[in-house]
Amino acid sequence: MSQAVSILGSTGSIGVSTLDVIARNRDKFHVLALTANSNVQKLAEQCSFHDAACAVIARAELANDLTAALRKLGCRAKVLSGTEGLLEAAGLSQAQIVVAAIVGAVGLGPTLAATAAGKKILLANKESLVIAGSLFMQAAKAAGATVLPVDSEHNAIFQSLPAGWQKGLQACGVERIILTASGGPFLNTPASKMAQITPGQACKHPNWEMGRKISVDSATLMNKGLELIEAHWLFGADPDLLEVVVHPQSIVHSMVAYRDGSVLAQMGTPDMRTPIAHALAWPERIEAGVERLNLTRMSELTFREPDLERFPCLSLAYAAMRASASAAITLNAANEVAVEYFLDSRIRFDQIAAVVGQVLERADGTMVNSLEHVLEIDQTARSYAMERIREIQ
Ligand code: NAD
Ligand code: MG
Repeated sequence: MSQAVSILGSTGSIGVSTLDVIARNRDKFHVLALTANSNVQKLAEQCSFHDAACAVIARAELANDLTAALRKLGCRAKVLSGTEGLLEAAGLSQAQIVVAAIVGAVGLGPTLAATAAGKKILLANKESLVIAGSLFMQAAKAAGATVLPVDSEHNAIFQSLPAGWQKGLQACGVERIILTASGGPFLNTPASKMAQITPGQACKHPNWEMGRKISVDSATLMNKGLELIEAHWLFGADPDLLEVVVHPQSIVHSMVAYRDGSVLAQMGTPDMRTPIAHALAWPERIEAGVERLNLTRMSELTFREPDLERFPCLSLAYAAMRASASAAITLNAANEVAVEYFLDSRIRFDQIAAVVGQVLERADGTMVNSLEHVLEIDQTARSYAMERIREIQ
């Protein structure tokens, strides 16, 4: 039977790739609800093409425009809007699968709503786990929701772990989890040149085509830092188990090292449709439209240690992961604000880490036990980040 899929953030890079995989597997999946922040035309076209039953625009003032655009295309999808619309779409009873592909902490509410409704969650929105990992994993357990990682590293780790790993990694003989990082577009850029990097350069990733926020995170290596925290929560991995290695070709997507000396890796051409297809069909395998890996045509696979001096965001994330849940929320909030200002050319590339570092100094070790508390810490960190930015501008 065909499974109904809702995509939160369908107009973004992950959303578009997911729709492509669904279109290749129409006998197995169909679209139920699609959501976007403000791109009315793209959302309407997607809904029309995929015959969605429900369309949601987060910016509520655009609801009438969306209705008009849909009807013009002959699409009868029900229109919802605003935060309530997103939450409603996330929990629709007809959906079996919800893809969490909104970017940033703003994705937490809808992702949690889908989790509480017991759906199979395809998790791309890593910021949700970074800021509310404990709450999120508890909610998934309580509601019987299955969480499948779409982030390529976490999907690779998931594929390299044995069945039953949820009982504990050490019990399965896992010694290390090795996340690979491409190193981003500035892997070989000298420290003295980091200050002149422009948003256009930072968004030009050598191996992956992604949204602008995650592209900047990949360029600062904050993305790998967020992914360490994501892995910590997803796999219940002690921080000491987690390692990062730079692998510029992005062919090995991550690895799990075992007590007996075995290292299991998942490989493939860098294309997000592979982890998306894996998570959609798990435990089965479906066609993803991905170019096949040709080992003999590949020049080389190389690995090296990350340079924590040129990429201080990675050290900040390591420190936040070890410090406390509130430090991780603070790190993420400060980073979201700093990246936004960088993308608007209002601060320099090297100032992203400086702002995050200063805001992180203010984080304390208070226990975080509710969504309200998460959002409160998030807001405080954002205000403080903006203060720091005003000082340096
Ligand atoms: P993107 O910027 O291309 O798309 C973001 C989506 O979120 C869009 O559909 C947008 O309309 C929606 N959105 C943005 N702000 C919103 C708001 N305030 N309210 C509601 N919806 C909003 O981003 P992306 O590259 O697709 O990344 C999405 C998520 O997946 C991020 O958390 C990212 O870290 C993660 N991820 C992406 C990739 C990738 O290859 N792109 C890989 C791994 C993980
Ligand atoms: Mg990733």
